[in-house]
Formats: sequence, structure tokens, C-alpha cells
Amino acid sequence: MSPFQYRDSELCCEEVSLRALAAVVGTPAYVYSKASLLESLAGYGRAFHDVPHVVCYSVKANSNLGVLSVLAKAGAGADIVSGGELYRALRAGVPPKKIIFSGVGKSRDEMREALKADILMFNVESRAELRVLDEVALEMGIRAPVALRVNPDVDPQTHPYIATGLKTSKFGIPYHEAFEAYEEAATLKGLEVIGADMHIGSQLTKATPVADAVARVVALVKALRERRIEIRMIDIGGGLGIRYRDEKPPTHQEFATLLLPALREAGVTVLLEPGRSIVGNAGVLLTRVLYRKDTGAKKFVVVDGAMNDLIRPSLYGSYHEIVPVDQTRCARDLETVDVVGPICESGDFLAKDRELAQVEPEDLLAVMSAGAYGFVMASNYNTRPRAVEVLVDGNRYTIVRRRETYEDLVAGETAP
Ligand SMILES: *Cc1c(COP(=O)(O)O)cnc(C)c1O
Repeated sequence: MSPFQYRDSELCCEEVSLRALAAVVGTPAYVYSKASLLESLAGYGRAFHDVPHVVCYSVKANSNLGVLSVLAKAGAGADIVSGGELYRALRAGVPPKKIIFSGVGKSRDEMREALKADILMFNVESRAELRVLDEVALEMGIRAPVALRVNPDVDPQTHPYIATGLKTSKFGIPYHEAFEAYEEAATLKGLEVIGADMHIGSQLTKATPVADAVARVVALVKALRERRIEIRMIDIGGGLGIRYRDEKPPTHQEFATLLLPALREAGVTVLLEPGRSIVGNAGVLLTRVLYRKDTGAKKFVVVDGAMNDLIRPSLYGSYHEIVPVDQTRCARDLETVDVVGPICESGDFLAKDRELAQVEPEDLLAVMSAGAYGFVMASNYNTRPRAVEVLVDGNRYTIVRRRETYEDLVAGETAP
């Protein structure tokens, strides 16, 4: 169940009124539910409980230290894609042996940092990267634990920007080259080959493409075993979708049921890298209506949140449900509006041609399902301070990142 429900006609996050919260922390504000984070993490735990597994939360979906530490305390590992994310994961208390380093462009410095931290595994995305990692590890006199990210070439049937498992994608090693790449990796003294990895895309609403990809990876693992290359771990990536509008993504259980037979048979430790499905529906962007505007051709609701706060609608054309915090507004007539921010770009919108109950200046709106790829993609465009982030736990809340100040915005800049 969503942690965002109306109580006494006010939208609440768990037991905290968003109206009362906005009065204290201001808007725009990201608000996350701790219970919801833990519930989705536990969903994976239940679904995969009968195989050895680690849920390595994909830090890029929402990298706030408060969010990370809640997940780390509950036993999650981390899937990182940069040295910065390594720093965050360690700061939040994620055990290094539960950290996986993914990404197509790791630098030597980042490799050294991760080797020094003694992480679980590097997901290597090219043969060139294999050779560099080998060099870096040898320089340090250690061996780097690696998996190869294999591109299984299946169509995940999602948005082109978030599909990563197709032949034309920049990610992973093409399936037909993977065997040879593994053979090379096995000869490199600075590497210890321990795993196989895949991640076919994001916001997947069907589990079958993942199952097809897992089958291909398992077949590869079996072939490698015949060559005495022992793969102990299969990382099946992240990507499970969430409901933004009317999508019906598989449940954790349905997802697991489809994938588990092949994984169990392979006798491996299963690694998962979910991001969106852990945090997406656990968060909203809270914004206040500034103005109503009617140009004759179109009606606009101008709000104080903008594309710099939440870029997904502008970047991917994504749909986010928008609801009034004051439930009595919902009884009003619907009108078709664009919900837009103050930024000087026509592409600055949170919703286009949306049927919304009539709202007034000063009303609060909640942009739903904004917990993933929301704040992390925020920028300071138009010199707008980034929003405050709040983590709610029952009837209490913590400001897990304060709103930026103008001083923050110019810190590090100097006139010549
Ligand atoms: C982004 C990403 C994830 C997380 O994807 P979600 O759709 O948020 O679950 C997992 N693994 C890798 C390698 C990624 O790049």
C-alpha cells in the first residue's frame, strides 16, 4: 500500500501531514517514507529467500545518505557507478563486501579507491577495461574480483533511453564475444573471475525479457565451467518497474518465480541491483502553486518546482501523477492544464495536458512516484537552490538534506 494516503482530507506521508511539513521545511521538497523503503527491500528478501542472495541497492536512483543508511541497516548492499557513490555507500555504512561497482567508464583512480575499500566485485563492461583493471590491481599487488557485464541482446520493451541490453547499446560485452573475453580475463594475473552480470534496462513491466536474459547468462556460465572458469555469482541487474500511472509491473514474487529455476540450477549466489523499485514509489516532490495562467489557447498552473528539481517529464516524457494535498480540492471540476515551473525553457514542465481538479495559488501539490531519479538528477539551472529532502518515519521526520542556500550555490566560484 502507498505510504501516501489522505487522512482528515490532508495528504500524509505515513502519519505526517504534508501541509504541516511544507509549512516548516518549505517547498519544493522531496519527501520519502522510511516504511516504504523497507517494505520494498523486504519484498526482494522474501522473494529470493531460498537462494543465497544479496540485494545491492542501485545508489544512483536515490543516493541520499539518509536513504542509504536506512537500507544499509536493513541489510542492503550497494550497486555503485562512480567513486562518489562508493564514498556515499561507505559513509552510509554499507559493508564493502556488499558493494558492486558497475558502469561503462571507470577511471583508474576509481578502480584504486574501490580496490582499497575491498569491495565485493567489479562489473567490467569491456575488454579494454579488463586490461586496465588488471594493471591497476597488479600495481597494488592484489587481485580484483570481477564479473563481466554481458549484453544478452534482448528487448526489454521499455523506453529507449533506459533500455541497455540491446546490441546497439553502449553497455556490456556483446553476448557472442563474452566467452572469449572470459578466457582472456582468466589469464590475467590481477583479476579473479567470480561472476557474470547483466542489466537489460529500467522500468521493466514484464519479467519475461529478464528471464530470457538470465537463461542466456546461465548458458554462458555452464559453458565457462566446462573450461574450468568457475562463476560463483550471477548479478541479474535491476530494472523492475513501478506504477507511475496504470502500469502493472510484476510483483517481487512473480519476478522471482520466473527467474529462480534457472538461477537455482546454476547453483550461484544471486546478486540484485534494484533502484527504482526500492525508492520510486516511496517519495513525492511537494510543490506549491504560484499562479494560474490562461493564454486563451492553453491553461497553465505555475508551481515552484521545476525541471531542475524533477527532470524526468522533460527528459523522458515521463508521467507522474499529480494530486492536491488538500483533498477537498479533488471534488472540484477537472480542467486540462500544463503544470509548469519557473525555469526559462519551454521544456520546463511537470505535466502536459493533464486533467487536474481546479487548484488555486498557495495550494500544495504532490508529484507522485518521485523517489527515484528525482533529486539525484536535480541541477542548479537558473541558479535555483536544490530542494530539501525529508525522510518520514511514522509521525516523525528528519531533514536528510537541507535546502541549498545561495551561499552553497556560489561556493567554489571566484572572480579572476
Ligand atoms: C541504473 C542501474 C540499475 C538500477 O536500475 P533500476 O531501474 O533503477 O532498478 C542497476 N544496475 C545498473 C548497472 C544500472 O545502471
